Amino acid sequence: MASRADIHVHSKYSGLARLWFLRFPESVNEPEDIVKRAKAVGLDTVCVTDHNTVRGGILAKQFAKEYDGISVVIGEEISTEEGEILGLFLNEDIPKDLPAAEAVDRIRSQGGLVIAPHPFSMHVPALGYEVDRLDIDGLEVFNAGHVDGFANNRALQHSKLGRWARLAGSDSHSLGTLGCAFTEFEGSGEEDLRKAILMKSTVPKGSPMSVESGVKWTMEVVLESDRQIIKSMLNRPGKDPDDPVYKKVSELPGHKRIAALGASFLYIAPPIPYLVVWLGALRMRRINSIPIHDPNGHASKTF
Ligand SMILES: [Zn+2]
Repeated sequence: MASRADIHVHSKYSGLARLWFLRFPESVNEPEDIVKRAKAVGLDTVCVTDHNTVRGGILAKQFAKEYDGISVVIGEEISTEEGEILGLFLNEDIPKDLPAAEAVDRIRSQGGLVIAPHPFSMHVPALGYEVDRLDIDGLEVFNAGHVDGFANNRALQHSKLGRWARLAGSDSHSLGTLGCAFTEFEGSGEEDLRKAILMKSTVPKGSPMSVESGVKWTMEVVLESDRQIIKSMLNRPGKDPDDPVYKKVSELPGHKRIAALGASFLYIAPPIPYLVVWLGALRMRRINSIPIHDPNGHASKTF
């Protein structure tokens, strides 16, 4: 029996991304919601691989005990000097900015597996041909966040050297894209996934993230950040005082929090045109149904 694993998923513990002068959370996914969603989309195993921490994976694994039929692998997407590396089957954080070979050694010393995520990416730090030099178990030959196809094709092409397991991951930063790319493996559960990677018998499958789900992700991030900013202004941390987004926004001076809310309003405003288009389409459908009489009285028609 073949099962599905998503080997590359982010939670709210993935820290902040930078775009020009803007900083925003990489993801606002709760680890528990990742577990529920993974089960709902038919995954057998989900690997939680936050940037430079195993915290999200540890929490997700705890939650998974309450649900049948879903396994969690604790992972980390480690930023190294040569590019990002995925460590799977970990227990402890591996610090960022180490030389890649040292990060690989640290993964091995925890009994973990080493995967090169999006190895030929042009827009995120990637190992490139370093994969030939390092001790790597698998290549992510399909990453759903790389919608251009170029980086994925190159990874697939390079994997034909046959040295690595071929894997696919959604690189989900939003629940909507969880499992859109997945790795098929024989058996069920994390130990069978580990065996399949070591035997190079995994099969990468899935499709790229849609534009729509990308827009949804950015909206989720903006709205959740706004919620945490407002909570921080009211001094109400809510049920999770350790929420990483709440902590970050609480460190900002008041005027920066207000500026962030203003900027997010400008970002959210674009749905207004979508609404106008939708209302316009509704109106046009109504017009379509009104019969137009031919001035000669021959017939009535609609346009
Ligand atoms: Zn990632």
